[in-house]
Amino acid sequence: MTEKCGVVGVSLDGRDAARPLYYALYALQHRGQESAGIVTHDGFQQHSHVEMGLVGDAFGEGDLDELTGAAGIGHVRYPTAGSVDSSCAQPFSVSFKSGSLGLSHNGNLVNADEIRDELAAAGHAFTSDGDTEVIAHDLARNLLEEDLVRAVKHTMGRIHGSYSLTITHDDTVLGVRDPQGNRPLCIGELEDGYILASESAAIDTLDGELVRDVRPGELVVLQEDGEGFDSYQLVENENTAHCFFEHVYFARPDSVIDDTLVYEARRNLGRKLWEESGVETDVVMPVPDSGRAFASGYADAAGETTADGEARDADDDDGVEFAEGLMKNRYVGRTFIMPTQDERERAVRLKLNPIKSTIEGKTVTVIDDSIVRGTTSTQLVQLLKDCGAEAVHVRIGAPAIVAPCYMGIDMATREELIAADKSVGEIRDEIAADSLAYLSTDAVADVLGKERIDLCLGCVTGEYPYDIEGEETDRDVSRPDVGGQQLPADD
Ligand code: SF4
Repeated sequence: MTEKCGVVGVSLDGRDAARPLYYALYALQHRGQESAGIVTHDGFQQHSHVEMGLVGDAFGEGDLDELTGAAGIGHVRYPTAGSVDSSCAQPFSVSFKSGSLGLSHNGNLVNADEIRDELAAAGHAFTSDGDTEVIAHDLARNLLEEDLVRAVKHTMGRIHGSYSLTITHDDTVLGVRDPQGNRPLCIGELEDGYILASESAAIDTLDGELVRDVRPGELVVLQEDGEGFDSYQLVENENTAHCFFEHVYFARPDSVIDDTLVYEARRNLGRKLWEESGVETDVVMPVPDSGRAFASGYADAAGETTADGEARDADDDDGVEFAEGLMKNRYVGRTFIMPTQDERERAVRLKLNPIKSTIEGKTVTVIDDSIVRGTTSTQLVQLLKDCGAEAVHVRIGAPAIVAPCYMGIDMATREELIAADKSVGEIRDEIAADSLAYLSTDAVADVLGKERIDLCLGCVTGEYPYDIEGEETDRDVSRPDVGGQQLPADD
């Protein structure tokens, strides 16, 4: 599974934004490795540099020098919607009669085709098949007749799906989060300005202070003198649909989302996992790195209570031992980019090497954050048994993934997902584990301090918070009627 994108926007008092944007993109590199880009505006002219590749490869010294201006946005991308080439790399930038626009988008619109068709019929020429260009054209059209705030509101009334956006309109930087707040976006204060970023780790990198998350349905406009920001709650929604997988998997553990450190949330999910399905074994070990925080919380909880929920004796040395039994080779590509099943299987063996002395003759619980196709888990269980494990129990710090994601996560098709049509028992048999358990969706909501209805659980329930063709919804939600240019009634 991969996150599709990371976005950032910066407005400073007189200092060029390019370098802070560049460092912030480094901090967001885990959210996209296929392309990186920056758009700045110097008050007269827009500048853009977008390249395929990692942040470090995409920019040279000279490129940053040419990106002048105190206002700018940046983007890292892993392409899932639109073509896998530079035409879809971002930020998307364009100059219209209504001024210059730059757009960075994290998320995925589910009605982009309808809007593109309508705009194309009205004479708009598109250069890519991505949904970000659709937002840019729609906004540009509205800006011909409306001020910035009304134009953004108008576009928000037409687009449906998941979006966290950073935008430059000439030298004004804005941030917008969709009315259900599916993907994260936060505001930070810097020494001489303000920043909008997908994750607070980008703010930390610039020695800034996290101010707060951008609210679902909110437009934030950074002031051009770097003195502050203006907030406009453009759409109110009864419920949110935060992607719970941000906490489980995508976000950096050192980021803070919804006032909670992601690392702490993962540890607490691990604790819940022990409460729900703990099994007494000699050793608990994480699948590095993704399972580490879960395993640490799980092992802590196992040190306090037995698997039956009884308080554990302080001098009971039969408790569960936390150990690193698997070493990761960091230089092997991710398993999901291997095109064939055979290559994927080989990659798992290259990627993880077991420490025999930690495993031999012991019962082992191995903890990870997800099972997607099942390939890694099958190989892993075999690896541990080959090393002499007497029993291998698998525990997963999230519910089983049964359906694809339409909101910007590259996850695999329904046919590829092992849990789409198999029960937990069948998956346990397929991966040849002695036992297998996932965390419940109620436990996830409980740990994140949310009602279930305020989370997106689409990939683990098959019911989505957006109106997606051919799929069930978990709430009363429908696509806006895109035809025409009428403003919403309350305008
Ligand atoms: S479907 Fe899953 S991965 Fe996609 S947004 Fe919802 S919770 Fe996140």
